[in-house]
Amino acid sequence: MKTYDKSISRLQAAKQHLAGGVASSLRASMKPVPLYAESAKGARIRDVDGNEYIDYLLAYGPLILGHSHDGLNASVNQAMHSGYAFGLQHDGEIELANLLAQVLPCADKVSLSGSGTEAVMLALRLSRAFTGKTKIVRFHGHYHGWSDSIFTSFPSSGMSQQASEAEASRVPPGTFGQSANSLEDIILLPWNDPAALESLLRSRGDEIAAVITEPVMCNSGCIQPLPGYLELIRKLTEEQQIVMIMDEVITGFRLGLGGAHERFGILPDLVVIGKAMGGGIAISAVAGKAEIMQLVDDGKVSHLGTLNGNCISTAAAIATISHLAQDNGAVYGRMEELFNGFADGIRSLLGKHGIAGVVNQIGPVMHMMFIDAAEVNDFDTFNQRDSARYARFAELMLEEGVLLRPNGLWYISTAHHKRDIEETLDAMDRALARMRS
Ligand code: PMP
Repeated sequence: MKTYDKSISRLQAAKQHLAGGVASSLRASMKPVPLYAESAKGARIRDVDGNEYIDYLLAYGPLILGHSHDGLNASVNQAMHSGYAFGLQHDGEIELANLLAQVLPCADKVSLSGSGTEAVMLALRLSRAFTGKTKIVRFHGHYHGWSDSIFTSFPSSGMSQQASEAEASRVPPGTFGQSANSLEDIILLPWNDPAALESLLRSRGDEIAAVITEPVMCNSGCIQPLPGYLELIRKLTEEQQIVMIMDEVITGFRLGLGGAHERFGILPDLVVIGKAMGGGIAISAVAGKAEIMQLVDDGKVSHLGTLNGNCISTAAAIATISHLAQDNGAVYGRMEELFNGFADGIRSLLGKHGIAGVVNQIGPVMHMMFIDAAEVNDFDTFNQRDSARYARFAELMLEEGVLLRPNGLWYISTAHHKRDIEETLDAMDRALARMRS
């Protein structure tokens, strides 16, 4: 049995002056205790009690190259010796912008920020300024950061596919303290529902500035778009002069060098990237069409941030992207193959133990859930999963030396190898046997 005594006492100590004991609210939910990390390298992480884990949390997604990657370390180290941030311009910004324009099909121009939340805020602002309209359409089950203007909560029973427009417009705030009118310009729709989208966009297109969507619903079940659905968003938004924003904070540099928009062959007007872009160092960006980004050139749309484009972040992003781009992005094929096999391995283990579950996987991101359903392709079905059972499973996996996000979303990195996957499947075999007993 592993013990977590030092993490438990660290959490107590942290709570004295650190609100909540954790730096991001979500982290408090980890069982049996929010772990304290000591060090990490590649696919492995150690906690302060000396327990070692194969890591599939990967800091909630950014660590596409794994922990403490030697090449990334060298680049950041080198940058650091010339200064951290100048508040002046520097060559790293030009190099990164050129690199993004080269690898992202949607990127005529980019603007750099520090987090996904901030970049989404800029994308929304650009959309309103460009169209002169105010409403933003977003989807049930998607996440676009925690800013007041877009953060919502999702009741466990989702909206039906036939949600009326009145229902669609009732948007529940995501937290106490959020102003009641901060979401009045948001229209919430069920995702993967072409009829609901078509009816709304055709009837209210003249009020709508943007439709923002995750290209794959990674935040709720890793659900893929129905064939033709992203194309429909593209077609209708074009028709109605609405900006199409693809939120690729998870999928960017994860589903391929050109993100999901390259993979699915859709050209949105704006794309938001973050997480994997910096390999674990804070950076994000909005990338998009020249005529929209022009609003920043003209100074009509303000885009601010003290540490935007700082030397450490730009060096990290250049190093991460350059590493991923080697050999024409061959590393993506390897990750894909590894995770395809992994997902199949998990499905066989669920079968072997007679446990009902679904694994949705695309490239190096996957959602595993305990649910009695043949497939999970919409948010309502996703909500029927047994979350408590999964949390128990994640706890058992921790004891077996595997670190998982308690909600079911798994990430891998270029540092994960076949032996890590095999070790994980063995661990899972034991954990699932314990769940049955
Ligand atoms: N958009 C998506 C799709 C995300 O998954 C996240 C974070 N999980 C964000 C935006 C917000 O990014 P950040 O946490 O860097 O603010």
